[in-house]
Amino acid sequence: MARFSGVDYIQFDSLLSEQELLVRQTTRQFVDERVVPIIREAYNNAVFPSALIREMGRLGFFGANLEGYGCAGMNNIEYGLIMQELERGDSGLRSFASVQGALVMYPIHAYGSEEQKQRWLPELQSGEAVGCFGLTEPDFGSNPSAMRTTAEQRGDSWILNGEKTWITNGSAADVALVWARAPEGIRGFLVEKGTPGFETSDIHGKLSMRASITSSLHFAGCSVPEVNRLPGVQGLASALGCLTQARFGIGWGVLGAAMDCYETARSYTLERKQFGDKPLAGHQLVQEKLAWMITEITKGQLLALQVAKLKESGKVEAAHVSMLKRNNVAIALECARLSRDLLGANGIMDEYPIMRHMCNLETVKTYEGTDHIHALVIGEKITGLPAYR
Ligand SMILES: Cc1cc2nc3c(=O)[nH]c(=O)nc-3n(C[C@H](O)[C@H](O)[C@H](O)COP(=O)(O)OP(=O)(O)OC[C@H]3O[C@@H](n4cnc5c(N)ncnc54)[C@H](O)[C@@H]3O)c2cc1C
Repeated sequence: MARFSGVDYIQFDSLLSEQELLVRQTTRQFVDERVVPIIREAYNNAVFPSALIREMGRLGFFGANLEGYGCAGMNNIEYGLIMQELERGDSGLRSFASVQGALVMYPIHAYGSEEQKQRWLPELQSGEAVGCFGLTEPDFGSNPSAMRTTAEQRGDSWILNGEKTWITNGSAADVALVWARAPEGIRGFLVEKGTPGFETSDIHGKLSMRASITSSLHFAGCSVPEVNRLPGVQGLASALGCLTQARFGIGWGVLGAAMDCYETARSYTLERKQFGDKPLAGHQLVQEKLAWMITEITKGQLLALQVAKLKESGKVEAAHVSMLKRNNVAIALECARLSRDLLGANGIMDEYPIMRHMCNLETVKTYEGTDHIHALVIGEKITGLPAYR
């Protein structure tokens, strides 16, 4: 199997430091050696490759851009490049790392007590423990502010009632970060596996993100001690703050899927000949599609890099990340579709990664804020007029 050599049309790599290139290379090698050989079977069998969790932990992939508690303390460009390479392997793997790092470790790091940080961050970082993030409910996805899951204080405990659904890593998680409505506003709770009144059930029949666990979380009179409430949470804005972290990683990650589709189409069309001895890649219509893909990937890389630089300097806004997530998911999905087309009938086969990426990207378009919702975020920023309702 040919190793992935990257996509670098305008010497993008010259914008990266030695350390950033090294982090990318380490992740690239991990994906080539440990993910590419097994992902087709895992995806077909709808199994998450959990044997890779500890290894990813050892390589520092979880919460890579957080400081302390065993975290790697990488910069946001290094973090983005890890996400890019993981998603070249599979969106399910990148989703695991996004949830673990950006949606569970980040909120504990940002809003947790010292005791909660000491308890969970080292284990989540190393992959000894798995986390999940429960925000979405059966009746509320794009609009989590209407959530129905409740938290009622009784003495030193909180009683949770309600249901969360579409939760990545749900049944595999040792700890679920659950968002619930308390009388004083939305609050975040760390609910440990096995807590009475807390059960999970897996969602089957997915034709996307098959190498990823997706579950529902059920709470019926589930008693959670006050020490498991995140003390720094201030309403829904805190949950949305986590999503901004995860969406940033997605904006980089999907470039990996797009690069894999582009490179598959480029190499395939250079080999395959129709109508005489000319490779498909020698035809103008084919070149136009390849040119579109590499142009959009290159623009997506520059957008990701600039947003990462804004994040590094503390100037990033959620609306910047919305543009990154929305644009890069859209172009990645289009790259997958164009690549599928260029491979003809072979494009539908699982021997190639394209249909897997395409199906995964349909989820990525929907989760962490749909394409529409991010358009509305951008629209509000440039007009001052919120158009959600
Ligand atoms: C595989 C997978 C994993 C997931 N993992 C997690 C997880 O770990 N944790 C978690 O909490 N959630 C998770 N989700 C849920 C995901 O975040 C939601 O699916 C997403 O927020 C969209 O919500 P919805 O599916 O209810 O769609 P809806 O909100 O019902 O939207 C349906 C359609 O209506 C459009 N729409 C909605 N409102 C508007 C509006 N005001 N204007 C214009 N169009 C609008 C949407 O853009 C979309 O096209 C996951 C989902 C999937 C598929």
